[in-house]
Amino acid sequence: MAETADKKEILRGGQFLVKETACEDVFTPEDFSEEQKMMKETVIEFVDREIVPHKERFEHKDYALTEEVMRKAGELGLLGIAVPEEYDGLGMGFVSTMLVCDYISGATGSIATAFGAHTGIGTMPITLYGTEEQKKQYVPKLATGEWFGAYCLTEPGAGSDANSGKTKAELSADGKSYKINGQKMWISNAGFCNVFIVFARIEDDKNITGFIVENDPSNGISLGEEEKKLGIHSSSTRQVFFNDTVVSVENMLAGRGEGFKIAMNALNVGRIKLAAACLDAQRRVIDMGVKYANERVQFNTPIAKFGAIKSKLAEMATNAYACESASYRAAKNIEDRIAMRTEAGASHSEAELKGVEEYAIECSILKVAASEDMQSCADEGIQIYGGMGFSADAPMEAAWRDARISRIYEGTNEINRMLAVGMLVKKAMKGHVDLLNPAMAVGEELTGIPSFDTPDYSEVLSEEKAMVAKLKKVFLIVAGSAIQKYGPDLESHQQLLMAASDILIEVYMAESTILRTEKNVKRFGEDTQKEQIAMAQLYLYHAVDTINLKAKEGIVSFAEGDEQRMMLMGLKRFTKYQNQPNVVALRNLIAEKVTSENTYPF
Ligand SMILES: Cc1cc2nc3c(=O)[nH]c(=O)nc-3n(C[C@H](O)[C@H](O)[C@H](O)COP(=O)(O)OP(=O)(O)OC[C@H]3O[C@@H](n4cnc5c(N)ncnc54)[C@H](O)[C@@H]3O)c2cc1C
Repeated sequence: MAETADKKEILRGGQFLVKETACEDVFTPEDFSEEQKMMKETVIEFVDREIVPHKERFEHKDYALTEEVMRKAGELGLLGIAVPEEYDGLGMGFVSTMLVCDYISGATGSIATAFGAHTGIGTMPITLYGTEEQKKQYVPKLATGEWFGAYCLTEPGAGSDANSGKTKAELSADGKSYKINGQKMWISNAGFCNVFIVFARIEDDKNITGFIVENDPSNGISLGEEEKKLGIHSSSTRQVFFNDTVVSVENMLAGRGEGFKIAMNALNVGRIKLAAACLDAQRRVIDMGVKYANERVQFNTPIAKFGAIKSKLAEMATNAYACESASYRAAKNIEDRIAMRTEAGASHSEAELKGVEEYAIECSILKVAASEDMQSCADEGIQIYGGMGFSADAPMEAAWRDARISRIYEGTNEINRMLAVGMLVKKAMKGHVDLLNPAMAVGEELTGIPSFDTPDYSEVLSEEKAMVAKLKKVFLIVAGSAIQKYGPDLESHQQLLMAASDILIEVYMAESTILRTEKNVKRFGEDTQKEQIAMAQLYLYHAVDTINLKAKEGIVSFAEGDEQRMMLMGLKRFTKYQNQPNVVALRNLIAEKVTSENTYPF
């Protein structure tokens, strides 16, 4: 059941697939409060002053500069946005924490990673799972940037399979401390952090346990050399070795065997924040791309005037707009959910944990979509710059290299794709999202006679909304039949899961883009939203194509004969436009706006 807060309906995580959302119920970047707008300006000003002028130093492995900028961010309060005031943070809502993460991450992936690792996975496990004593001892220092945090989960033999780590924690004979032994790998901020969140196994426990471990070299902690990486050159990434490191029992996080849960929940927040971290990075690449395209003249013409370049700028802007729309929609859902739980008497940490966990599906969707859109944005940025795009002296090369990591950490995109569908199926089984009845209804619709009425799509975006409703049916056909066919064995049909996940992702992204635009059309007028309408239509056009492709791939893999024919006919019906959009005209309109304003203007 959907629940209500502030008299408006808040859908549960994953319910977007089977329920309609009114545009008034989505939060959009145009809804930022005055305080949030000020915060945004403060962060942009900080980035333009402290990071942009030093971009070259960030490319030359100036780890000290990263630490210096992080300390300055701490002085401004930016490291404590999500931390409750009683622990010296600013205690701001989830949307504001997303906003800061968005705008601080745009200029270099080195700071994006250092910021994300510190505020997210480095600090959050303590604010969310720590005892009062642990919070008092560590969180204020982390919130102000006096100390820095890092998160030690990955090991040489335990990456995606994070619960398989070999690091051991052994209780001392007097029961007062644990001795930790093991090797952690790829640890962001390792080179300058003061405290590690370390996951280790006690005896032969099924699940790992979390510990807060201070970085004290005299306590058996040593570091590997800085890793030589493709990108994020000034983000410190090192191995961490624990050799008989003694940790007091008071430093265990939550209970014994709770580590895997902590690790996964921390990653849920990490994933949506990573999506936020891919937003301003896209805006800045578009901004540089259009400025270059307007200035660069070939064949006596600024290249921005060529259709081939216009197409790129339009697609880049459209994806960025879609990522913004979906990220802030989910962020507000989480914020509302947290408020609802707090009002019902839950503690801050309990409310936040459950609030984010509820939208774990959306967090995975966003992580995948935004990281891949960021990558293609930087890739096209290089192409717009031509040969200069390939030069390390121009900004696109670093943007492209920095973007690559986002598809790998916080759970690879393969793992997140599978998680998104897996979690949805689990929610359906628990009765939190009713997939069964809508799937049965689609089944009946498929075997019934289609309506030959011509719908009235005169209202702006009405055909697009109807199309999204049909695309949801495509997911139900593919996923519903696959579940029926394979049952619990579906897990081993990974290619099918990946295809289903792509459908899920495109539905959420397209719907969020349309709802944001519809909301803005209603309040600001259609005339003010011409390009946004075009972006919603262009995004949907691609989503329809992707969904067609992926659904077909799925259907032919598990259905044969008449069943296959019926499903493919259904697919055709559910992906058919009444009025095909003229995508060339849409792109031209969007590109005209971007090139005439000489920036990402939305
Ligand atoms: C720059 C950087 C910073 C990092 N920072 C941190 C940090 O601060 N703390 C930390 O703990 N970790 C960190 N990591 C580790 C990161 O989270 C892991 O690299 C990531 O989870 C993938 O693990 P892996 O590298 O072992 O790859 P693997 O798990 O070996 O995966 C290799 C490939 O196989 C695929 N794969 C794996 N399992 C499956 C499966 N079941 N089904 C289908 N495909 C599968 C993956 O998607 C991937 O494509 C960082 C990594 C990097 C590169």
